[in-house]
Amino acid sequence: MGETKYIFVTGGVASSLGKGIISSSIGKLLQARGYSVTIQKFDPYINIDPGTLNPYEHGECYVTVDGHEADLDLGHYERFLSIQTTKANNITTGRVYKSVIDKERRGDFLGKTVQVVPHITDEIKRNVKFLGSKYKFDFVITEIGGTVGDIESLPYMESIRQLKWELGPRALSVHLTYVPFLAAAKELKTKPTQHSVKELQSLGVQPDILVLRSEHDLSADLRKKVALFCNVEESAVVQSMDVPTIYEVPLMMQRQGLDKTILRKMGLPIGEDPALKPWKEFLNRRSNATEEVTIALVGKYVELQDAYKSILESLLQAATYNDRKLKIEYVQSEQLTDENVAEKLSKVDGMVICPGFGSRGVEGKFVAAKYARENDIPTFGICLGMQCMSIEFARNVLGLEKANSIEMDEKTPYNVIDIMEEQKAVTNLGGTMRLGAYECVINKASKVYEAYKEEHIQERHRHRYEFNNNYREKFEEAGMKCVGINPESDLVEIVEIPELRWYIGTQFHPEYSSTVLKPHPLFLSFIKAAINK
Ligand code: GLN
Repeated sequence: MGETKYIFVTGGVASSLGKGIISSSIGKLLQARGYSVTIQKFDPYINIDPGTLNPYEHGECYVTVDGHEADLDLGHYERFLSIQTTKANNITTGRVYKSVIDKERRGDFLGKTVQVVPHITDEIKRNVKFLGSKYKFDFVITEIGGTVGDIESLPYMESIRQLKWELGPRALSVHLTYVPFLAAAKELKTKPTQHSVKELQSLGVQPDILVLRSEHDLSADLRKKVALFCNVEESAVVQSMDVPTIYEVPLMMQRQGLDKTILRKMGLPIGEDPALKPWKEFLNRRSNATEEVTIALVGKYVELQDAYKSILESLLQAATYNDRKLKIEYVQSEQLTDENVAEKLSKVDGMVICPGFGSRGVEGKFVAAKYARENDIPTFGICLGMQCMSIEFARNVLGLEKANSIEMDEKTPYNVIDIMEEQKAVTNLGGTMRLGAYECVINKASKVYEAYKEEHIQERHRHRYEFNNNYREKFEEAGMKCVGINPESDLVEIVEIPELRWYIGTQFHPEYSSTVLKPHPLFLSFIKAAINK
């Protein structure tokens, strides 16, 4: 196709409008036309990466195969496009500044004064173009976090201005805004959009395409008005109404010709609309499913929508491919006790014991694991969830009273979950866990193998503690088998109780690699077991 084209996605009026979903949808539509596409997210905050951020601040921390702790939007990119992202797909202001300051210390700037323009903006531009020039993608979509008008996003807007100037028709700007409905006046209001575009224009960036998020249908007249006020062609003003699932958004964009407008504006041939057959089939199965499968999510962040994003999406995908409607029961582990556990969990078809850090709510996870084990409820423990299953087993089956993870109780007499050897000397919190994809060899006589149908797998990790191999034999004798092992380090990656319907814990996070068109085998098999219960 010639040189890489760059699409920038910015947002205005409010945050949380779904820039990640719009970026993913654009990517999906271009990919379906045969183009190679990647998507990257630039976050204007100062943290080097979101790995040290609390889920209350930033939702889930997503992990890439190469071990980068990333913004959760990268999860959307991977789920929509079935691509793998890397550290290069997620840049923060912290990383930009760190790199510039390191260069300054090395003397790379030859005595010059180091400034936001051009040094910081040059570093941003270098990063924008990095993946395109290295891998020759046809399209690189860059989503800018935050909203136009934020102080911290100014250097990014300035970089977009410069890049649009330098790249000409190879760069395009998509701006997402919000059109509120005033109930008292019974009117949709475009003024915030006009202001947002003015703000962007005042920074020298003219949007080429406007995507208007709204809860109501926008009339042609309203879109015409927005086009007129914002210097944007009428056909380039599209609406993004609320839809039952985010996976409908690419189709909604396709119906309005968003991809065609992009191709036309970038001087590319247009051709037929791609059929998106498997995608539509997924959506059909989702909307045709009537019977429910109820899964409890046991965790301490259950009131936060985004904290377990990838797990929820993986469950939805797996339920859909099992022709079931997914119903989630959120169970706050902090409030779970032996007294109320039956009331909260007896009716569910299966449960996920969620990942996490620290001791808050962990005792409730032990209660859930015990109840599930004793009542044979299909249960999936992920990372800390797997560790909790092991600890509960040690306490209540092996009789190792006060068994625990060193993370929760440094003085536990039975450290069935111990700190990893290479973690002992670590003092910095950021980016120092066991991160990214590692190999795992699966025991062929296990349910896990039935699910994967493969002996050698690679899965992504994010943890500091591990199953203590000194206890392996005891566990196995008593019925909890270590069925997935890392061949180099001998670390236990998967535990399973074969006697039970489906009681499996993974030290890794399978949820990071489940996509719409390639749902994860473990989630598929877990949901199947939950249905059969
Ligand atoms: N806190 C645990 C560890 O560090 C589990 C981490 C997780 O659930 N991601 O090992």
